[in-house]
Amino acid sequence: MAQGSWYDADIDHVIISEEQIREKIAELAKQVAADHASVDDGLLLVGVLKGAVMFMADFARALGRYGPPIEIEFMALSSYGQGTTSSGVVRIRKDLDRDIAGRHIVVVEDIVDSGLTLNWLLRYLESREAASVEVVALFRKPDAIKVPVPVKYVGFDIPSEFVVGYGLDFGERYREVPYVGVLKPEVYARS
Ligand code: 5GP
Repeated sequence: MAQGSWYDADIDHVIISEEQIREKIAELAKQVAADHASVDDGLLLVGVLKGAVMFMADFARALGRYGPPIEIEFMALSSYGQGTTSSGVVRIRKDLDRDIAGRHIVVVEDIVDSGLTLNWLLRYLESREAASVEVVALFRKPDAIKVPVPVKYVGFDIPSEFVVGYGLDFGERYREVPYVGVLKPEVYARS
């Protein structure tokens, strides 16, 4: 773990290290590349702002080394959930910039927890007539297994705790943390 960064003092324990993330992303990229070797018009990666930004940046570069040409799109969604939970009621704040009809899409997700957001997103992408929609999620929590959301590629199954880092925030902070960890209880107490 990097020493001396402001956030290290706020982290109770690390769940997944920076190195584990890097290795896993290379593995995921190889799998996705192998499964899409014959896609002619390339893959369209779709990420949801802002949590997926770090994963998208690293995954896209890893996939670029092994896979077909890619394009990247981002959407911004607001969920009406409060604080650390999501409700599944979603509003689009930034839509896709292009028509996705007939395209092969890979949704690049930071974390699947209840699966509600992802479930909504998949239905939305299908309604826009994508040729195929698959999901790569870097992290999955146990509840997600109960939801019928087809996540084809999963990086890590993690415990059902609120985590920060590698794009995941608490009150917009900690996204830059290069590993994923759990905050100390006093961090919640002071916010
Ligand atoms: P879901 O709809 O699957 O419950 O969760 C959707 C979104 O909630 C994720 O994309 C992520 O942005 C956020 N989320 C879920 N679990 C966590 C977590 O442990 N930490 C943080 N920071 N965000 C989370």
